[in-house]
Amino acid sequence: MKPRLPTRLKKLQDRIQGESLASLLSASCEKSIHYVDQLEQRPVFPGAKEIEALQLLDKPLPEVMGNAGSILNTLDSLGSPATVASTGGRYFGFVTGGVLPVALASSWLADTWDQNSALEVMSPIAAKLESVCEDWCKTLFGLPDSLAAGFVSGTSVATICGLAAARYRLCGAAGWDINAKGQNHAPPLRVVTGDAAHNTVIRALALLGFGTDNIEFVKTDDQGRIIAEQVPPLDGQTLLILQAGNVNSGAFDPFVDLCQQAREANAWVHIDGAFGLWAAACPETKHLTEGIELANSWSVDAHKTLNTPYDSGLILCSDREALSGALQTSGAYVLYSEQRDGMRYTPEMSRRARAIELWATLCFLGKQGVQDLVLGLHEMAVYMAAQLESQGFSILNDVVFNQIVVSTEDDAVVEKILELVQQDSTCWVGGSRFQGRSVIRVSICGWMTSVEDVNRSVAAFVKARQKIG
Ligand SMILES: *Cc1c(COP(=O)(O)O)cnc(C)c1O
Repeated sequence: MKPRLPTRLKKLQDRIQGESLASLLSASCEKSIHYVDQLEQRPVFPGAKEIEALQLLDKPLPEVMGNAGSILNTLDSLGSPATVASTGGRYFGFVTGGVLPVALASSWLADTWDQNSALEVMSPIAAKLESVCEDWCKTLFGLPDSLAAGFVSGTSVATICGLAAARYRLCGAAGWDINAKGQNHAPPLRVVTGDAAHNTVIRALALLGFGTDNIEFVKTDDQGRIIAEQVPPLDGQTLLILQAGNVNSGAFDPFVDLCQQAREANAWVHIDGAFGLWAAACPETKHLTEGIELANSWSVDAHKTLNTPYDSGLILCSDREALSGALQTSGAYVLYSEQRDGMRYTPEMSRRARAIELWATLCFLGKQGVQDLVLGLHEMAVYMAAQLESQGFSILNDVVFNQIVVSTEDDAVVEKILELVQQDSTCWVGGSRFQGRSVIRVSICGWMTSVEDVNRSVAAFVKARQKIG
């Protein structure tokens, strides 16, 4: 019997192609340009009305196909006003970078390519750009020649990869194949880190089965830096996790001595450098990261300090074999090539080719541009701290990088000011606890921030305090 000709997909194709791709992309382009154009006029945080309107999205899944153009319209009319204007000049919350035009534009092209960067054979261009970026990272951060880079969604995942590589290597050194034999009965590894370690480091340790109760926490100083003298003796079964850039103060752990000690003891050092590792790329801030080259693995984000779009972090590891060994996978259809196969260095298989916009960004900035960006953010933070101080606010941290910890005489006042500044929405800043006090945390992380932005934001702080009286 002759098989029936399949017609269903053809029907779908006709329906999809009824709206031209070109007109959809132009519409998206137009809306995006409009979004950027009005960014400076709008409040940084969406208003209650805009958030309320999101209820219109609470609808059942459509029964039948819709119209792509009108879906884009809905997304823009409801979505754009309900975004946080974090790509503008006055968003200082968390540590959230903006997005450089070249990064955004290349990411559009990358989206269109829709490449899977698991294997070289799936995308030669993605594999090539990963190799190039890996090489550029060595140069930028001054890391060893043996460096391997895995392109992951962010520092959270990068840290999991780095700690997995550490476990693979440290267990391996004790004659234990962790992949095959697992965690039960494995030689016990020690984990040493500062009590100001980022929550994502703690989560990575929990996920990997280290057990958070087993972490040997070391006291940190008033800036959140690990106190080197309090670090217990290290040995070949120890994983030491240090930090380049404390989320509140921006402070850097003292790397030189600790990394040296770790090296002599055959311990493994992982550095969480989500936003702070970029200090290594700049002669004026490089002293903050002195000694990092002696560590074994580093996690860093491009989507923060470097201002690429989200979903861009790197695990950097001086031990290529440990990284790919820890993340190894096999399957009859997975044939590794002589070229770079990205999935060897990441926990995922299918993966968007995020090295595309990273490459474009690094290529655009060059060494000089990266330095201007990193030092520019630092300078702006120093300026804003001085402005706030001159208006009577206290700055609790040494502004060594891009973070400012702001307070006043009294926790309740700080909390009230924070609330009023957030409501005013000239800028957006978040709250935190630092040195046992309620504080306002300011992060200068976007390339767009101007002196006017800072002045307007400081004025909003002053207005809030006057309101309290
Ligand atoms: C942001 C941050 C992380 C987590 O990185 P993600 O990219 O959000 O996963 C880890 N450590 C520090 C110090 C950070 O600032």
